[in-house]
Amino acid sequence: MHIAIIGGGITGLSAAWELQQRGIDYTVLEAAERWGGKIVSAILEIDNSKFLVEGGPDTLVTRKPEAWELANELGMLEQITDPGSETSGIYVLDNASLHPIPVSPTRFFSTPLLTLRGKLRLLAEPFQPARRDDEDESLADFVRRRLGQEALDKFIGPVLGGIYNTDPEKQSILVSSPVMREMEREGGGLFVGALQRAFRSGKKKKNKIPRFITFKNGLQALTDELARQLKGDLRLNAQVDSVRLEGVQYRISIGDGSSILADGVIFATLANQTSALIKDVAAEASHRLSAMRQQNIGTVSLVYRESDIPEKPVINGLMIPRREKRLIDAVTFTSRKMPERSTEGYAVLRVFIGGGAAQMVELPDRHLIEAIKKELAELLGITAAPQTWTAFRWECGFPQAEVGHLKRVDEIEKLLPPNLALAGSSYRGIAVPDCIRQGREAAAKLFNPQS
Ligand SMILES: Cc1cc2nc3c(=O)[nH]c(=O)nc-3n(C[C@H](O)[C@H](O)[C@H](O)COP(=O)(O)OP(=O)(O)OC[C@H]3O[C@@H](n4cnc5c(N)ncnc54)[C@H](O)[C@@H]3O)c2cc1C
Repeated sequence: MHIAIIGGGITGLSAAWELQQRGIDYTVLEAAERWGGKIVSAILEIDNSKFLVEGGPDTLVTRKPEAWELANELGMLEQITDPGSETSGIYVLDNASLHPIPVSPTRFFSTPLLTLRGKLRLLAEPFQPARRDDEDESLADFVRRRLGQEALDKFIGPVLGGIYNTDPEKQSILVSSPVMREMEREGGGLFVGALQRAFRSGKKKKNKIPRFITFKNGLQALTDELARQLKGDLRLNAQVDSVRLEGVQYRISIGDGSSILADGVIFATLANQTSALIKDVAAEASHRLSAMRQQNIGTVSLVYRESDIPEKPVINGLMIPRREKRLIDAVTFTSRKMPERSTEGYAVLRVFIGGGAAQMVELPDRHLIEAIKKELAELLGITAAPQTWTAFRWECGFPQAEVGHLKRVDEIEKLLPPNLALAGSSYRGIAVPDCIRQGREAAAKLFNPQS
């Protein structure tokens, strides 16, 4: 039995890890010259100062345990660090001015973001009827139903829309935030559901695992270590061009003219990439995959002198709703969130692009940095030039899971011929732990199709 895995991001590498545990031969084919896909960490340098930045993900939620478990299996728990809370000091842009997201009761009652009516509607959440079925709905419909239109427009929509780089009116709640529907089902609402969960986790707190984790040397440490401990056939610069049936096996053709034969194939690639690869073996599934939307996304990390950053307001993050029609989607002050990755006297910012203005991801460096400098000057009063900067771009690289997505994925999987499996961010969850789970499950499923 030999399995081919197409794609060497966290999903493909996790699938290979699972196969290795089961003693199955595998080949991982990765088009790029490095492992990890969107997990990419880099060091920026100014004189003798070093700054660790992340191109893609920077923190992992431990409510989904798969990343922690994988790190444990790889013997990496000592490299894990706690990036702290993600909720303090977050601002939202509303009508061109900055407002802190009200996370404390005092802030909530004094914030001008919501009218009195909007605040009362939000506080009435526990009294809204609970929905307990399994049908999907949009993130926006869910928030409107539970917390009201104003909460959706003014801060919850921008925050969730920012996290998922998406339009909350289209995004599936069952893919992005199933936990919110679980809280509604179990507790009758978000407030009660959250309290119940806090109580339960308080009881279990003996082995304290932080809510979010990262790795001392960046998240890429995880994929680097994974690739290092994989002992199968691992090939970089191996762009797969096509997959065809040959008898009961699959012939996988690679861009350099070579090919391999495999008994099963795991596609750890995005829906549009997989669609092109399976058109000869599963035409209808390929057609349906091509209908799944993917959006541009990118990040730009910039290092400034601390003295070039206005002293007020002290913000950790800024979310920018699409209705504000800006060229950037969010800003994180990385050096405040993770000071150990920076050097005193400098400030590191990470700017997210591609959601509100997709074209930003396609701009050449010169135009990109000019556009970002203008945005940062207008929004945050930063008029100085950065000391250094770097950009990471993924054109059509961010999957959008629209309402009904999980059912569509189920149907597509039923159209696949034997021993082909789909896994990764386009299918059942976009976060890194979701990708690890899907990679491992795909590997397990090829040997036990009923599971
Ligand atoms: C800016 C950003 C921030 C994020 N932040 C977080 C976060 O904080 N926490 C979190 O949990 N998640 C976050 N995510 C999501 C998470 O990073 C991704 O969903 C996850 O890394 C995707 O992994 P993957 O292996 O499925 O896909 P990818 O990383 O996209 O890997 C797919 C691989 O397949 C290869 N490939 C494609 N076509 C072929 C082919 N024909 N032949 C061979 N190889 C091919 C590609 O080169 C690529 O390496 C973020 C994502 C982005 C972009």
